[in-house]
Amino acid sequence: MLVITGAAIATVDAAGTEHRDGHLVVGDDGRIAAVGTGAVPAGLLDELTAGRRTEIRRVDGSGCLVTPGLVNTHHHLYQWATRGLAQQDNLFGWLTTLYPVWSGLDEDTVHAAAAANLGWLALSGCTTSTDHHYVFPRDGGDVFAAEIAAATRIGLRFHPCRGSMDLGRSAGGLPPDSTVEDTDAALAATEAAIDRWHDPAPESMLRVAVAPCSPFSVTPRLMREAAELARRRDVRLHTHLAETVEEQEYCQASHGCTPVQYAEGLGWLGDDVWLAHGVHLDDAAVARLGATGTGVAHCPSSNARLGAGTARVTDLLAAGVPVGLGVDGAASQEAGHLGAELRQSLYAARLRAGPGALTARDALALGTIGGARCLGRAGDLGSLEPGKLADVALWRVDGLGHAGIDDPVAALVLGPPAPVELLLVGGRPVVERGELRTADAAELARRAARAHHTLLERTAGSAARPVTQE
Ligand code: ZN
Repeated sequence: MLVITGAAIATVDAAGTEHRDGHLVVGDDGRIAAVGTGAVPAGLLDELTAGRRTEIRRVDGSGCLVTPGLVNTHHHLYQWATRGLAQQDNLFGWLTTLYPVWSGLDEDTVHAAAAANLGWLALSGCTTSTDHHYVFPRDGGDVFAAEIAAATRIGLRFHPCRGSMDLGRSAGGLPPDSTVEDTDAALAATEAAIDRWHDPAPESMLRVAVAPCSPFSVTPRLMREAAELARRRDVRLHTHLAETVEEQEYCQASHGCTPVQYAEGLGWLGDDVWLAHGVHLDDAAVARLGATGTGVAHCPSSNARLGAGTARVTDLLAAGVPVGLGVDGAASQEAGHLGAELRQSLYAARLRAGPGALTARDALALGTIGGARCLGRAGDLGSLEPGKLADVALWRVDGLGHAGIDDPVAALVLGPPAPVELLLVGGRPVVERGELRTADAAELARRAARAHHTLLERTAGSAARPVTQE
């Protein structure tokens, strides 16, 4: 049992309950046993342990804010090893530069990139992360298993999305033919990944989603059959959609419709689907996403890095769309800091719609319960309530960067990224006093740097050498 006292607490429950000075009790079952104001009520711990002998760890939360752990709803872990390239390209130029580098991926480089990236995400307050992996080089080994091994080591709750591409350049797609899979082989490998890894249990640490990559790298047939597969196997669906003007033009030219119309025609709207980006949406598209309960992974830093545009977050929320945050990248968003994405989402919304667009509490909700809704786990994750899984972030907000901001939620969202004092996943400490507990951060960094150089050596001579910007 673990007991935090003396901390400010933002539960992010439906009523927005907060405690200036509260307590949070985590049971031995990895779930929240109690949360409330002031000290732990007399007799509560005896009642919770029911006379059983149990070790109680007490954490002094003074100077800290407790929130639900953050949920990262869109990402590409392998890209941690290819950051800093194509620094001034838009999406299509950036992808065209990086596809040849990614064709050199294998189990070792993916594991190194994923472990370092997940370690960094943990240090940024993330307790659950998705990953969207869609590059499977023929002689690269089992890269999907490699990233799952990395997540198991770091100890984050993980939703790997088995991606796929089957529309190469010779057939009118963007990726080189050498990086795409055969349609039937991609579907079979996706189903095999569900068989091998997917755990539907409420406390699951590992759930697989079906995730063809994007309209310009996937055939309509793969999109349609992927949706059928996901529904037959009762897993979720994820893809990139409506990210850029160029994608919109591609859909008009190739299919005569908008990206959301294209997705709907293929069976890709529904409350079991969440889409990455949703930047370029007309009013009809926003309404369709809301009516169907289709989620959006909002990735404001990546959208800014690639100059893709600014999503209509306030309109999406008003339409009832589940909206979560994603760091995306990592090669299109080198910071990869999920805590910092809270502030970025607020900034992006206000640049688009004015100072009333999003409050600090709205931003925190996007990063927690909004993400849990996108992943279909709002019943177990995303808020601090008795019975929910104990995925908890304890942020220090009394240091040099935050002291004097009286509102702790404003300190977390509007202030600089706050140090993580304690990060619990299912009650298990992953970060303590700003240090990763589950792995040696320096070793993770060395391996990631080695993977970067290995990949560049493999693609030596291509356009993807480290770029010195003019
Ligand atoms: Zn992405």
